[in-house]
Amino acid sequence: MKDIAEAIKSGGLGNVKAPRLKAVVREILAQRGELSLDFLAELPLEEAKGWLRSLPGVGPKTAACVLLFSLGRPALPVDTHVARVARRLGLIPERASAEHAHGLLEAMLSPEQVYPFHVLLVEHGRRTCAARRPACPRCPLLAHCPTGQRVVGGEG
Ligand code: SF4
Repeated sequence: MKDIAEAIKSGGLGNVKAPRLKAVVREILAQRGELSLDFLAELPLEEAKGWLRSLPGVGPKTAACVLLFSLGRPALPVDTHVARVARRLGLIPERASAEHAHGLLEAMLSPEQVYPFHVLLVEHGRRTCAARRPACPRCPLLAHCPTGQRVVGGEG
């Protein structure tokens, strides 16, 4: 366990994630007899998500990350940046749960748009639409953003 925690510590929370990772690996081996998720590339997308989410500690974001980044499937991970920017732009309701946000946003996108949408919203959230101080006056999305209009208009 110590070795796993050490190997993943640069990602943060190594001691918390290590036992979870071990449990997931055990479960994959028990179910599949090998350490490979390649079979998920052939399953219908919702089935592949469901399979991943049945693993211990795997939620909608992690399942979508595995499918998008490792298998090239059009599943949208909604991390803190994607959720914040999407809320401010009015794409999802203010109180949408993570689970609901995944479904709502993914349904708006064609399969080809999923990867760039994710990457660009994360980048926008880091560079411009920061959690505490969004740089609305210089944001290229200002004209389309209800939150930005309020901020620039002095209401937010
Ligand atoms: S206008 Fe402001 S709140 Fe809207 S996306 Fe841009 S930075 Fe974010």
